[in-house]
Amino acid sequence: MADAVERAAALREYSEQVASCTKCALAGERTQVVFGAGNPDADLMFVGEAPGFHEDQQGLPFVGQAGKLLDKLLAGIGLTRADVFVVNVLKCRPPGNRDPQPEEIAACEPHLFRQIELVEPKLVATLGNFATKLLSGKPTGITRVHGHPQEVVLGARSVVLYPLYHPAAALYTPSMLKVLEEDFSRIPALLEQMETAPESPGDPEPVVADPEPASVQLGLF
Ligand code: URA
Repeated sequence: MADAVERAAALREYSEQVASCTKCALAGERTQVVFGAGNPDADLMFVGEAPGFHEDQQGLPFVGQAGKLLDKLLAGIGLTRADVFVVNVLKCRPPGNRDPQPEEIAACEPHLFRQIELVEPKLVATLGNFATKLLSGKPTGITRVHGHPQEVVLGARSVVLYPLYHPAAALYTPSMLKVLEEDFSRIPALLEQMETAPESPGDPEPVVADPEPASVQLGLF
């Protein structure tokens, strides 16, 4: 396991590689790659969908309205962005904020798996359908699985996946916001459980979302 300094260095180096990624057509549309940001040593990682207009402009994830709500939800459980690491399934903005396409997700997936491998979060909170379906390896939609932690194997590690509604979806739907707040309120207890039982999350059986362990080629952030 890397220490915080090594982890930060590895992420920085990887972000420099990803900055010039041309694995899919979005490379020709973006202002810049939005790698992700936060605490490289975080136990909690959030995985969103894709950068929007503001993220593409600023090069940082969740800086628009959905990001403001994410900040508020974090504050509600006593956390800030400095406590967590935030990434997206896609690192480049789809034109007009359209849905990610299967070929874009497939091209970008190795970046996400590598980020998970480098940060080594214990809890991965997926925001919305795209991140949840990708990392659970199952087609079940967010409406059915939100708020239900599940153990998954990502790359070579077992982590707890915690599906949540996407903040953008909750922005204008008060009932969804209430559910998102309730699901968020369980995060501190989940993190605490992991502190006490780091290597034995127990039931259910792990789901292998990425049967091929992601290759480890540590770089520097
Ligand atoms: N929505 C996302 O999924 N990601 C962002 O970075 C911003 C909005």
